[in-house]
Amino acid sequence: MQTLVEGIHHFQQHVFPSKLRLFKRLAKGQQPIALLIICSDSRINPNLITHTEPGELFIVRNVGNMVPPHGVSNNGEAAAIEYSVVELNVQDIIVCGHTHCGAMQGMLNPKSLRGLPLVRKWLRHGLATTHIMRENYRHLRGSALLAATAQENVLVQLQHLETYPVVAARLARGDLHLHGWMYKIETGEVFHYDPRAKQFVLIEHACQPPDESRSLNASPARATA
Ligand SMILES: [Zn+2]
Repeated sequence: MQTLVEGIHHFQQHVFPSKLRLFKRLAKGQQPIALLIICSDSRINPNLITHTEPGELFIVRNVGNMVPPHGVSNNGEAAAIEYSVVELNVQDIIVCGHTHCGAMQGMLNPKSLRGLPLVRKWLRHGLATTHIMRENYRHLRGSALLAATAQENVLVQLQHLETYPVVAARLARGDLHLHGWMYKIETGEVFHYDPRAKQFVLIEHACQPPDESRSLNASPARATA
């Protein structure tokens, strides 16, 4: 805890004064660029990897970057989706998976969740991912299987997003766009799902078409989400 207390002191003495105008503006309201749904994993810092400031990302974090489908009860994710789309009028929603994800490992190996009944229950939102892996990726093992699972899970969760009436309505109008991302912890690279190439490709400079030679490995083509 001492690390956190010292961090708060550092923030108040050095960081906050240097961004005073930003925080005064944020006190009046928020207008985030996008809703980002990303894993709780401590190795990921969404603002760091996107180089964004407070106020720029509306973030939902949970184990395995899941989106429970519309209609699931006690669904905090649903409230965040509805609020950001209807009230904050975000025009982009990103589901971001990552390499070395413990949730994906748990989905591939349910026996490892024996002492974690709540995690096991939560990961049912990735059941379609598990089936996709079992039926289509039998040739993969180890880290390749884990990476492919995280990618497929992003696509499954994007499909869940489309079950929300507010999302479906805005998608139909062209006012909202869904994106699938993969963050590679070991390189800091972020890949996005390209529906035309049917694979995850490296996000490089804005306004440049993605270079398909830099696609994330272990990503057999599959139908678009
Ligand atoms: Zn994770």
